[in-house]
Amino acid sequence: MPLLFGTAKFNEQEHLTIGGCDVVRLTEKYGTPLFVYDVAHIRERARGFKQTFNSLGVKNKVIYASKAFCCLAMYKLLEEEELGCDVVSAGEIYTAIKGGMSPENIEFHGNNKTKEELTYAVEHGVGTIIIDNFYEIDLLSAILKETGKQQNVMFRITPGVDAETHEYILTGQVDSKFGFDVTSGQATKALEKILADKQFVLKGVHCHIGSQIFSAEGFLAAVEKMLLILDEWKQTFNYTVDILNIGGGFGVKYTEADDPLEPEAFVKAIVSAVQGQCELLTYPLPEIWIEPGRSIIAEAGTTLYTIGSQKSIPDVRHYVSVDGGMGDNIRPALYDALYDGFLANRISSEATEAVRVVGKYCESGDVLIKNIELPPMNPNDLFAMTSTGAYGYSMANNYNRNLKPAVVFVENGVDKLVIRRETYEDLIALDCE
Ligand SMILES: *Cc1c(COP(=O)(O)O)cnc(C)c1O
Repeated sequence: MPLLFGTAKFNEQEHLTIGGCDVVRLTEKYGTPLFVYDVAHIRERARGFKQTFNSLGVKNKVIYASKAFCCLAMYKLLEEEELGCDVVSAGEIYTAIKGGMSPENIEFHGNNKTKEELTYAVEHGVGTIIIDNFYEIDLLSAILKETGKQQNVMFRITPGVDAETHEYILTGQVDSKFGFDVTSGQATKALEKILADKQFVLKGVHCHIGSQIFSAEGFLAAVEKMLLILDEWKQTFNYTVDILNIGGGFGVKYTEADDPLEPEAFVKAIVSAVQGQCELLTYPLPEIWIEPGRSIIAEAGTTLYTIGSQKSIPDVRHYVSVDGGMGDNIRPALYDALYDGFLANRISSEATEAVRVVGKYCESGDVLIKNIELPPMNPNDLFAMTSTGAYGYSMANNYNRNLKPAVVFVENGVDKLVIRRETYEDLIALDCE
């Protein structure tokens, strides 16, 4: 049985349905490759985080990491679910505000925010800017002096926690391009500088230890380290934070082998760790913020591809090509990310052969799934790749001048196009003759 998430099931025609919509119908209507998002599943995951905090009576903010996937409709959905968002560029700020996100619920991250972007954020009333480095302290301070404004800020600390995950998506360790390092004293220096500058309203500290983390241990270690340094700052500077932001990185299931905690369990573990440390150190309990990205959106997304050519090399391998690939999902090529999938239009067909699913891009590395058992397939069969909702469309590109796919939200039997498929005209829209 394939991995099914949320509302995904099969109907009498042996077709996959998501949100009550037959995916065969969806691809007839919108074409392939097609991203389909199960809105009920997004809501359920969002509520898993938000409502657990609320039920524990802890002041909190659940801030969705836009970079996992964003568009106007996504921001509208986040507003409905009372989530904030984090952004890492002025482009994401622009989209978020256009999508109806209140600026005060936006958090601005990044290790090299430009002067233009910081000015844009300040002018548009972005709620919190997370200062990442010394250069940014000076840059933002100068902008605020020019505009005569004050700005809520936090600053990012690398607590020196190594979470068990891929090197490219590890960020909490000392040797990182992000944040102020604790051990060398940079974080303390940053605190002094920020406190001394009256343009800044310092709300607290942030850390983000990595991504696709399955257990609570890394977060607990981070909480412990953060509170130790906070307690030191309380003694030395008489400064206590209002907010402790523990970042995102909560894992999801891409394949059967992945076994992450549920959102509820992550929140409970983090809350109890913060409460425990605060009691131990008699530190006033801060508001707790988290920044889940993939854990809200990954499993809700399914990519539908049409099967095209196949190539069988006797005693070597059977290749199955689909009409998308590294342009709509670069994660396998970039991180060796693993995915699962199945034939979406004839579920009872038995998987009899180990094949390699590849894309249509001119790179040998354009492999979506290195090894998967699938039934014999015909051209025009539909292949569903599951758990593609995060960092798929958001990293999509026009390599080989292929068109970016369409994106559809489905809920209660209703489908809604939220990003239209690109056209050839779109492709040359920026070209100057
Ligand atoms: C990427 C990122 C997140 C979200 O990570 P996920 O793995 O998608 O949950 C949260 N916070 C920061 C600062 C990030 O860079």
